[in-house]
Amino acid sequence: MNWITNFVRPRIKSLMAGRAAETPENLWKKCPSCGEMIFHRDLEAAQNVCPQCNHHLRIGPAERFAAIFDAGVYEELPQPEVPADPLHFRDERRYTDRLKDARHKTGRNEALAAARGTLDGTPVMVAVQPFDFLGGSLGMGVGEALVRAMQAAVAERRPFILFSSSGGARMQEGILSLMQMPRVTIGVDMLREAKLPYIVVLTDPTTGGVSASYAMLGDIHIAEPGALIGFAGQRVIEQTIRERLPEGFQRAEYLLDHGMVDMVVHRHDLRATLSRVAHLMLKKPRPKTRQAPAIVSANPTKPNPPARAAS
Ligand SMILES: [Zn+2]
Repeated sequence: MNWITNFVRPRIKSLMAGRAAETPENLWKKCPSCGEMIFHRDLEAAQNVCPQCNHHLRIGPAERFAAIFDAGVYEELPQPEVPADPLHFRDERRYTDRLKDARHKTGRNEALAAARGTLDGTPVMVAVQPFDFLGGSLGMGVGEALVRAMQAAVAERRPFILFSSSGGARMQEGILSLMQMPRVTIGVDMLREAKLPYIVVLTDPTTGGVSASYAMLGDIHIAEPGALIGFAGQRVIEQTIRERLPEGFQRAEYLLDHGMVDMVVHRHDLRATLSRVAHLMLKKPRPKTRQAPAIVSANPTKPNPPARAAS
């Protein structure tokens, strides 16, 4: 026995094993709808829409901001400080540990990111709820960040665009999380009083307390195709009313048919639609020359295709 067999070999082995396990997973992504393996660059170029079946995969703030703002340029608002774990909540694990994990996994401080930038030259405020941060749950941090972003939008006279995605209120904060529903609703009222557009894009999934409050209070509701939107889950409703629910229940298209949303818009048309709606509501003409959507990359430092004339 020497240090080569005891130390060097296992290290090389673990290095090789780690790399082998990492590569295919990072380069290819499986579409959760049709199972097609898609090369990561193709998926990125298609704004995370499956080229095979058109399934809209869930995306985070970085991808949203890059796709919506002119040339993918934006300034993120700082995350406000809120009391951490006021109830000292613990289930199988401590709430503080869950928070720490979510922060480590996502590189974000909370389940909300807000940024200011321009959309076809018009200043706008965009807020995104990342679902991968504790299920996009609405806690004090999210509520506070939303209210601050809405206040900033009012002060700077910017339309507010929200990309909602949430499993509902954050149970670990009890009543304090539920209080965020009326708080953010007051924020929406402030936008309304200032006569600023409040546009909600409902993305997969928007459920629970978020759909029961500010996500359903928009001036215009746009949904992404196939998005799950509802309050209680399908199974819970079926058990309560003892009836089978119709096909496609709680999906964006069903909600459109029943008047709950105004539009179902493909992700590739979202930027143009948001710009049109925002300019229409502001009674402001859209510029003739528009920036091409930054669908190439979620990385803001990467150059975007050159601007082209509007068709
Ligand atoms: Zn697919």
